[in-house]
Amino acid sequence: MPDWKDALERVINDVVAPDAERVDAEGSFPLAGIEALGDAGLLGLTSSAAHGGGGGDLAAAAHVVERLAASCGSTAMIVMMHYTATAAIMAHGRREVRRAIASGGHLSTLAFSEAGSRSHFWASQSSATPSGDGAEVRLDAKKSWVTAANHAQSYVWSSLPLAAEGPMTLWLVPADTPGLHRSGGFDGMGLRGNDSVPVTAEGAKVAATAMLGADGGGLDLALMVVLPWFLVLSGAFSSGIMEAVTAEAARHLGATRLEHLDQTLIQQPMARADLARMRLATDTARTLVGDTIAAVASSREDAMLRVLEVKAVAAEAALQVTDLAMKVCGGSAFRKELGIERRFRDSRAARVMAPTTDALLDFVGRVVGGLPLLGP
Ligand SMILES: Cc1cc2nc3c(=O)[nH]c(=O)nc-3n(C[C@H](O)[C@H](O)[C@H](O)COP(=O)(O)OP(=O)(O)OC[C@H]3O[C@@H](n4cnc5c(N)ncnc54)[C@H](O)[C@@H]3O)c2cc1C
Repeated sequence: MPDWKDALERVINDVVAPDAERVDAEGSFPLAGIEALGDAGLLGLTSSAAHGGGGGDLAAAAHVVERLAASCGSTAMIVMMHYTATAAIMAHGRREVRRAIASGGHLSTLAFSEAGSRSHFWASQSSATPSGDGAEVRLDAKKSWVTAANHAQSYVWSSLPLAAEGPMTLWLVPADTPGLHRSGGFDGMGLRGNDSVPVTAEGAKVAATAMLGADGGGLDLALMVVLPWFLVLSGAFSSGIMEAVTAEAARHLGATRLEHLDQTLIQQPMARADLARMRLATDTARTLVGDTIAAVASSREDAMLRVLEVKAVAAEAALQVTDLAMKVCGGSAFRKELGIERRFRDSRAARVMAPTTDALLDFVGRVVGGLPLLGP
């Protein structure tokens, strides 16, 4: 897909950006944007070329998520979850699902967080038990947040192992599996169109072949495959929001006048300093996203450390940058006219999405201090 960046800009300009305010105001799923991204081949961008996908890597996915986040946080979050789920499916999923994703007609997502273990995704409490002659598996679970739950075709799903030792097993669960229940719609302060709702499983039966990787090997798969994609793309997501509000603030400060002083707002030294702080934080986070992608691509020695750092740094920077934007753009930002308050609200999710900033600080401290990632 040589011209995928042009295709992305077309979809953003024609569909995603014009729909962003409505998606936020109504809290509705950005269906037109997701369909347009599918039609343009962008939902299959990271699928292998052998299956008819774009063959794009983590850098390509990060570019898409960053550009989408600048326009519509909800759309970016849905695509970010889809690319992250796709990474696990490309590694271990069934061939027909890989082909369906490559064609752009199959949206997937993650179902890790649970009512019991909350943001501690590494401690799934869901069960998987053999059913019938062993060709099927019964899943029971209380998943607390599943982005795009009512619109995705499949969920990458964590549970306790079926029979093996180990902390966790992953499954690819079709969304139309009988026994799955989705509760209500999403009504949150930000990312209002992301359709992240609880999904429960009560005796939901899937084929035993729905297992992703080895029984009991789900945590390794989550840490080695899912986590790098999720954390880097979350960093790209926060970067996109920061880019958008920094550009919008610069435009507003340059175009808005204090008539009695015959000056624009950018001629005020304090406003300039705030804008500079926004630019510094944005560039710092974006540079770390780029360096993390380079570290992962070359299997650099510090790749795992960078992966654990990138979401925390970018999420916290986005909190600071969007807060500064709310200040320097004053009442214009407080109203909806600049789209800054929407980005301010959207940016708040990354801090509490698992692994949360607190959890990542603990992980980074463990790596730097020579302790295992999990455990005492
Ligand atoms: C918009 C959105 C979309 C989401 N989409 C998905 C999805 O598609 N799939 C999915 O699986 N999940 C999803 N999640 C869930 C997310 O990943 C987290 O699991 C969820 O936000 C955690 O909320 P909680 O209230 O359960 O956190 P809690 O676990 O109750 O944590 C609350 C606070 O306590 C802190 N805390 C918890 N434990 C510790 C500790 N040991 N040390 C220090 N601090 C700690 C946390 O850092 C956090 O700040 C989504 C969340 C949001 C907001």
